[in-house]
Amino acid sequence: MMRLAIGGLVHETVTFLPAETTLEAFERRAVRGQAIAAAYAGSNTVYGGFLKVCQEHDVTVEGLLCAECAPSGPVAGSAFQALADEIVSRATLWRDDADGLLLHLHGAMASRADPDPERTLLLRLREALGENFPIAVAMDLHGNVGADKARLADIVCGFRRSPHTDMAETGERAARLLLRKLAGEIKPVMAMARPGLVLPSIFTATDISPLREIMAEVHAAAEQPGILDVTLFTGFAYADVPEIGATVLAMADGDTALAIRTVERLSARLVAAREALYNAAPLYNPNDALDKAAALLAEGVRPVVLLEHADRGNDSTHLLEAMVERGVGRTAVPYLHDPIVARAAANAGVGSQLMTALGGKSSELAGAPILFTGIVKFAGPLRYRITGPYRTGEEIDLGPAAVIDNGDIAVIVTTQSITAVDTDPFSQCGLDINEFDIIALRSKTHFRAAYEPIAGAILIVETPDWGPADLFGLPYRNVPPGIYPITMAPPDDGTVEGLDDGV
Ligand SMILES: [Zn+2]
Repeated sequence: MMRLAIGGLVHETVTFLPAETTLEAFERRAVRGQAIAAAYAGSNTVYGGFLKVCQEHDVTVEGLLCAECAPSGPVAGSAFQALADEIVSRATLWRDDADGLLLHLHGAMASRADPDPERTLLLRLREALGENFPIAVAMDLHGNVGADKARLADIVCGFRRSPHTDMAETGERAARLLLRKLAGEIKPVMAMARPGLVLPSIFTATDISPLREIMAEVHAAAEQPGILDVTLFTGFAYADVPEIGATVLAMADGDTALAIRTVERLSARLVAAREALYNAAPLYNPNDALDKAAALLAEGVRPVVLLEHADRGNDSTHLLEAMVERGVGRTAVPYLHDPIVARAAANAGVGSQLMTALGGKSSELAGAPILFTGIVKFAGPLRYRITGPYRTGEEIDLGPAAVIDNGDIAVIVTTQSITAVDTDPFSQCGLDINEFDIIALRSKTHFRAAYEPIAGAILIVETPDWGPADLFGLPYRNVPPGIYPITMAPPDDGTVEGLDDGV
């Protein structure tokens, strides 16, 4: 009987944020050993996809460690060390019993001392397991995936949708390819092209032109005879690392030349579309967004979703400040991260009146804490399984939380940082979403799966924060030449590299 080990270490690192991401943040959601199947089976997550394929093929699963936390600042070196040590030592224990490894990485993890800890982890796994031990990796569309990292795996598959509603599907793709390789049916060879650009997350929504058309070509390329899989990684613009940027990665069955031709074609397509990709949607400053929202509401268009997308700490107050100053309608702010206020409000209890200095605490760009006075309408721990289309079925624990309502604006304050992307915050806190004219979110693309069907309009609000659409104000130090638009324009054809010598 076939045996596969499953593990993962997942973090999207915003290197500009001042606070390091601690081991504790990962431990809150860490799952080990046999608990992995219980936590993730049936969920729309990468592990859910891995497990589904293993179950279908009667594969025995050996759970290593699955550790993950919400996007945040640089991963503390000691945290990475501890998590990598555990994954490597657990993998080493199973080396002689396991036929292969299914690994989930994000692709954009960074620590201050190591700009590519995922590569370091893969190197350590290679040392521990051997050059020929089969490893398949499933990664996020927002990965900064260089050749030095990708070539350490036999199989690399990435999400092709943002919102990432294909997380389980991506896990399945990776797992099926690994099983076919183990069965001797295929000989995966890889090629990648790096078109020399990086997309701000807000422009990575895969249902917005021109990315929609390019992604359709990626899907079509993946169906070509001889091609096993194709991924377009858009890159992650807020990790200031040498490997920043988009990647087109293709795997072919033994035919490196075919893989190279495939990535060359798609990479050239991206280069040609780069300006359009970078201007895919209009941006509003907070006041213009509120003017526009007021006009839409007057026409009966509701609810209006305002997207403070540049917020990378889930606590920015730029838009909230403008909304408190000039109410434009009944407003909901789902999931503002402020552990101090969340605990105080949860302790005070429903019905209490509170005067708070709310939000704006994660960094100097998050806006100042603002004076917000209101009544506590909900208080209690928030722990539930996600019902929205993104990460469906995954259990989350946000700790003590509260709704503070000033009559115009209801803010859901949480102890744990999370980006609201679906309507669960409303149902979990006893709020009727239909009551609201304005819903102020901090998501980039994931909200679209739940909100496009119900929003009257979506307005993207650009604020001076760590995740803006306009990258020119960010203090990049490590981006090499040739990354559009941060440094210089790339060569016309990008760079292309075959990662295997052919079979
Ligand atoms: Zn992503």
